[in-house]
Amino acid sequence: MDFNATAPIRPEVVEAFLRASQNVGNPSSVHGFGRSARRLVEDARRSVAALVGSRSQDVVFTSGGTEANNLALKGSGKRLIVVSAGEHDSILQAMPDAESVSLNPDGTLDLAKLEQVLAEAEKRAGAGGLLLSVMLANNETGVLQAIPEISQIAKGFDALVHCDAVQAAGKVALDIVALGVDMLSLSAHKIGGPQGIGALVLTPGLDLQPLLLGGGQERRRRAGTENVAGCAGFGVAAELAVTHLGDAHSLAVWRDEIEERLTALSPESRVFGREAQRLPNTSCISMPGVPAETQLMAFDLAGVAVSSGSACSSGKVQPSHVLRAMGASDAEAASALRISLGWSSKAEDVEALVEAWTTLFLRHAGRETSLDAAASSVA
Ligand code: PLP
Repeated sequence: MDFNATAPIRPEVVEAFLRASQNVGNPSSVHGFGRSARRLVEDARRSVAALVGSRSQDVVFTSGGTEANNLALKGSGKRLIVVSAGEHDSILQAMPDAESVSLNPDGTLDLAKLEQVLAEAEKRAGAGGLLLSVMLANNETGVLQAIPEISQIAKGFDALVHCDAVQAAGKVALDIVALGVDMLSLSAHKIGGPQGIGALVLTPGLDLQPLLLGGGQERRRRAGTENVAGCAGFGVAAELAVTHLGDAHSLAVWRDEIEERLTALSPESRVFGREAQRLPNTSCISMPGVPAETQLMAFDLAGVAVSSGSACSSGKVQPSHVLRAMGASDAEAASALRISLGWSSKAEDVEALVEAWTTLFLRHAGRETSLDAAASSVA
């Protein structure tokens, strides 16, 4: 139940990956072996383009979502960068000096603040102009941003718009034109593809400075021999993401069931972003008074894989910047658990999670009650 960290690779992807890895050619070679490797890469590029409604020549393969995000921010010229406060670390750490726009308590972007920050930034932007980066779906809460509306606001300030769609892909329909953005980041391993491959998708004609220099691959936008097997796996995962979108939507039934059962047991638990439009597969819920690290260990012992905050920030003890940006107290944020479902989730998994959560919650509540009783008897 940790699909937002990484989704299990789909069997059809494994098959395509293995087949492609037996190919001996370099896609840049002109001989037959090279040409067959090139075919694999270009077929995959078409499938990834179809996932987001772009032209295939506008898909730049990268090593994953992190590189796509870095390329978008660093490759689009000397622009003044504005980001949302809930962005992934691969945005926030790539541009530590970026202007930040705050979130509403439900996790959506504060649009009045956005206009204010863009208006201020525009005065200081100089000839390079502005770049706004806002994710479509948050990795911790699943909250969806109103990207078409946000893009429209940004276009009023002549800003380029980048959207991190890493968590949205395969869970909601994607169309780069309808979103109105200039750049879109994707990562294969979040949609049942291989780890270590992703893409930055551009609007036609957008000029991009490469981060990696050397060969002329990816139309000079990203040097280095292509990850042929990774591309082939990504292509199949992208096709399956389109055909199985309906299954992803149905996950909301289990997500809602989990939230209803847990909050019935613990009315003080907060479901972050419940009031907003969210991904169908993600729930971020607090277990008051029980640190997320304690919860993770208990769930792990019960054979249930979940996450505290994003996978990239788990292991860090400080509370999630996303939940803090939604106004959560340190204590509330520190007790939040992320549950994320996906293509291979089963009803038994939901039962196992609810059972493990209930056991831990009651054990903790029992200890609280006995401590209260001890305190009052001392008093
Ligand atoms: N963006 C978001 C929203 C993510 O959730 C992640 C990974 O957790 C990334 C970017 C980074 O992607 P990758 O793991 O492919 O580098």
